[in-house]
Amino acid sequence: MAREEYTLKTIAEMVRMCEAGEMVAAALDQVRAAVRPGITTLELDAIAEAEIVRRGGHSNFKKVPGYSHTICASINDEVVHGIPSANRLLQAGDIVSIDCGAETSDGWNGDAAITVIVPGGADAGVEASVLKRREQTSAVCEGSLWAGIAALAGAKKLNEVGVAIEKFIYTSGRYGILEDYIGHGIGRSMHEDPPVFNYKTRFSGPSVEPGLCVAIEPMITAGSPKVKVLDDDWTVSSKDGSDASHWEHSVAVHDAGIWVLTSWDGGAANLAPFGIVPVDPRTSAKD
Ligand code: MG
Ligand code: MG
Repeated sequence: MAREEYTLKTIAEMVRMCEAGEMVAAALDQVRAAVRPGITTLELDAIAEAEIVRRGGHSNFKKVPGYSHTICASINDEVVHGIPSANRLLQAGDIVSIDCGAETSDGWNGDAAITVIVPGGADAGVEASVLKRREQTSAVCEGSLWAGIAALAGAKKLNEVGVAIEKFIYTSGRYGILEDYIGHGIGRSMHEDPPVFNYKTRFSGPSVEPGLCVAIEPMITAGSPKVKVLDDDWTVSSKDGSDASHWEHSVAVHDAGIWVLTSWDGGAANLAPFGIVPVDPRTSAKD
């Protein structure tokens, strides 16, 4: 059944997706290092694009109809799809989620997101309780992502990922999980089947089989899960003004295990607490 629900990738294709994933990882490393008070989100966009191009790839976000940037940069109550702008300056203590994608010259895609707290918040007079809550919100969202990836490693059905993400978040405190924005399959296109929910659904989802590649991406608020789309028709913001976080990785499932395509170590460090050792498709392919 699963073959009707998503396209299976070969090991050789996953090896190509490793390159796409590393382009995204490198671009996000550069952006993370550049985050400081006063930098604009358009400058961050240029930094990400330069790194992807330097590695021989190109932006896949720019292929999304109506979107003309390499990253999305979503600040404080913005959850996802914030548009980079020369008018958006990061301020000390802001919580900013950066989403980035890349495509190799031969058409394989990667997609990942991080959340960063802009340094200097305490010195700039941002309340300690606000800063602490922002740090916690990002940590819970990232933690839920790794719980979801760990669940994928042993999952029979894909929604086991959503169950693990939801459980992690709801046992970590009062957070809202966005309902209408979810993860997805990835490969020749950035967005493919199957959908990857961040919560338990009525149906358990397709079978998890070797060849599945998915982008897992929890999106949470520190309040109500209700969101609105701003007048720019892109930016998704929390309705109650609560701060938000978005973390994402692209992950491959193959015969010998899983590999986090957008993490330099395949996810080894973050999966170790779960007792999971990721297996690189590039070494697997040589066997
Ligand atoms: Mg993304
Ligand atoms: Mg995505």
